[in-house]
Amino acid sequence: MATFHSTLSRREFMKGLGLTGAGLGAAALVAPNFHDLDELASSADSHPTMPWWVKTREHEDITNEIDWDTFKAYDKTANPFPVVSAENVAMRAERDKKFDNDGIVQNLPGRNLRAVALADMVTGLQTAPPWDGPEITSPQSKGYTAWQDTPENNLQMVRAAVHLIGSNNAGALALNEHMLRIFDKGAISWEAGIDKGTLDSKKVYHIPDKCKYMLTYSIQQNYTQAKYQLRWDEETYGEGKLGQPMPLGRPTVHRAYGDGRYSDWMALRFVKNLGYGAYKAGVTANVALGIFSGLGEQGRSTYMMSPRNGLMNRITNYVITDLPLAATPPIDFGASKFCPQCKICAERCPSNAMSMESETTWDYGPGNRPGYKGWRMDWIKCQEMGAPSRCGVCHTLCPFNNPSEGIIHPVIRMTAANTGVFNKFFGEADRYFGYATPKTDAELEGWWTRDLSSWKGDVIHGTGQYKW
Ligand code: SF4
Ligand code: SF4
Repeated sequence: MATFHSTLSRREFMKGLGLTGAGLGAAALVAPNFHDLDELASSADSHPTMPWWVKTREHEDITNEIDWDTFKAYDKTANPFPVVSAENVAMRAERDKKFDNDGIVQNLPGRNLRAVALADMVTGLQTAPPWDGPEITSPQSKGYTAWQDTPENNLQMVRAAVHLIGSNNAGALALNEHMLRIFDKGAISWEAGIDKGTLDSKKVYHIPDKCKYMLTYSIQQNYTQAKYQLRWDEETYGEGKLGQPMPLGRPTVHRAYGDGRYSDWMALRFVKNLGYGAYKAGVTANVALGIFSGLGEQGRSTYMMSPRNGLMNRITNYVITDLPLAATPPIDFGASKFCPQCKICAERCPSNAMSMESETTWDYGPGNRPGYKGWRMDWIKCQEMGAPSRCGVCHTLCPFNNPSEGIIHPVIRMTAANTGVFNKFFGEADRYFGYATPKTDAELEGWWTRDLSSWKGDVIHGTGQYKW
């Protein structure tokens, strides 16, 4: 116990990481001074599934700067998500058809008929539940009262349920005046004196104004499988560029979308069965929900990066409810300082849809929202490349995706959370170790005969235990 309640100096911290020598002096100046490990660990109390080195911030104080004068409800009419031209849709369809055909006819590893069959087995399995949740017989109609507990205990309860559903990362938002700006403009009318939500002929959702809480949870994507989609294509896209994904890795994307829908059904039904309203409507920018409720930070790719899963979060799901939930604060695990130097996602993106700048910006283009200093995406370029089903290169490249089993990655993550001194080195190390490089032909074909008794990459539901 005496050693647990220890005081750890900056120098000792860096030494403990094995970072001795010439760089120690400079690094120690900017590394944290941990007065008590209990104190440090307790900073993550509001996110109990987060590693101990993740810091929490004040509510609404995300690591992106926000200008609340311009951060308004997302206006889909004034700033619609860009639509790819018919000509480009046709070009893309022809290109994708040829890509799959070449793989099948030439029986190429990762692209042959069985790989394409695998890619296609999960597409389209995404039936959404009704926006106001599946039909249930409420506990009140059976003579019971709704579940009663404190907002904190309720949060713990829904996290436990959502963990069973398959998310290791859940939080909550208080839907106050600022947080309501995450919703699409005019999508929802918050009504006093109604008990049940309705949808009118103008597609406006009318939701009881007592529903001022939101459960948020991220849907993880299968990283082991995602890496099977990477392939170099410098001939088409230029030096250092990856190309269209291997069919063998493509199921990861649609499986995650399918998991998201399946999770919607269960989470909405769980909350309704407790005797409360449960709605999912009115939000296009789901990334912001996760960032404001502390599930992650915004990465260069514009998506949410989380400490455990990196960019392997396909979507942030949510439930609007009157079940009282304690709001969870934003987090800082060093991503906002890591991305400016890393750039690997942008560097290898075939369509150059992401910024290669070292600085974030207030500028925004079509389909991006104003009001925050951060990263933006060129959605036309990205969609023309085929995202989301025909490109997920950027998601797959992030160094924060790497699982906790490797000894270097927990060390890197906790260091990056506390000092940016080594970020450039860590980014280079990730390239050097080749975590984000395509598989060999032998590895692609070897997937079909992998050892099923020890393979760790197939179970998506059931988030298990980490070894941080
Ligand atoms: S999904 Fe879009 S942004 Fe990401 S690598 Fe592909 S084209 Fe680039
Ligand atoms: S790949 Fe690098 S630059 Fe891109 S989101 Fe991840 S850490 Fe940031």
